[in-house]
Amino acid sequence: MDRYAVFGNPISHSKSPFIHTLFAHQTREDISYEAIAAPIDDFQGALNQFLASGGKGCNITVPFKEQAFAAAQKLTPRAELAGAVNTLKLTDDGVLLGDNTDGAGLVQDLKNHHVPLEGSRILLIGAGGAARGVTGPLLAEQPTELVIVNRTVSKAEHLAELFAPHGNVSAQPFSELSGPFDLIINSTSASLSGELPPISAELVRPETAVYDMMYGSGTTVFNQWAKEQGARMIIDGLGMLVGQAAESFAVWRGIRPGMKQVANELRKNLG
Ligand code: NDP
Repeated sequence: MDRYAVFGNPISHSKSPFIHTLFAHQTREDISYEAIAAPIDDFQGALNQFLASGGKGCNITVPFKEQAFAAAQKLTPRAELAGAVNTLKLTDDGVLLGDNTDGAGLVQDLKNHHVPLEGSRILLIGAGGAARGVTGPLLAEQPTELVIVNRTVSKAEHLAELFAPHGNVSAQPFSELSGPFDLIINSTSASLSGELPPISAELVRPETAVYDMMYGSGTTVFNQWAKEQGARMIIDGLGMLVGQAAESFAVWRGIRPGMKQVANELRKNLG
């Protein structure tokens, strides 16, 4: 049985063991998957111990994604662009490969919901780690324009500059945004504290699909607000979570598990 894990701190809330156990069952792959709380000041030590005891690969979550980036001996192009690693794989030649599957997870979930990306105008709210991870994969879908807006404007400008060679991406302050947008993605952590990013209600039109990366047992604050403004569709980040996990599983095992049944089970599990 091959051993996999997710590293984070705190980690007890992680849904990854639940998701990967269902994936293993679905694909009949003989793996174990556990949650490991690495010490805040010794991610590398915990990772070394895991690999020395036969670990084949792992996911990495807050706050270790940048440390995992540094620990990788080789990086995929999407991990390099993301500047963070959420998936490590020990290859057959013993090389520790770093990947980032967050953006692929988001894009897959949007496609599962039939949200068109090619030729669309997209607003990305937030410029933190999650925003950076999804910008490259979103631009690869060839939207006509991707606008990044963030409370700290300089961070949005930095992201737009970084990704300028990859597509039509720009940064704007909240006060200068003008619609219409086909898709608005909230990648801020504002919802965690029940807050809304300061975007104008006029930007949400009847043709706008809205995606909040946050998820929980009910509708997120941001999606509830977007629904009240008349968004044509609201989607939360549960599918992105399952999508990034499916992509990691494919990286490790060469088999892509189905997302739908696992997303349904997870939704039930959240209550
Ligand atoms: P970071 O801490 O790196 O970035 C947080 C971002 O949110 C920054 O852009 C910050 O702006 C902004 N922000 C925070 N509070 C507010 C507020 N009150 N009003 C406006 N903007 C605010 O976090 P991450 O990027 O790693 O994660 C962001 C969210 O995405 C989290 O809720 C996380 O759970 C979710 N996520 C979901 C995933 C999924 O699979 N569904 C995967 C990864 C993340 P500023 O720069 O000005 O501080």
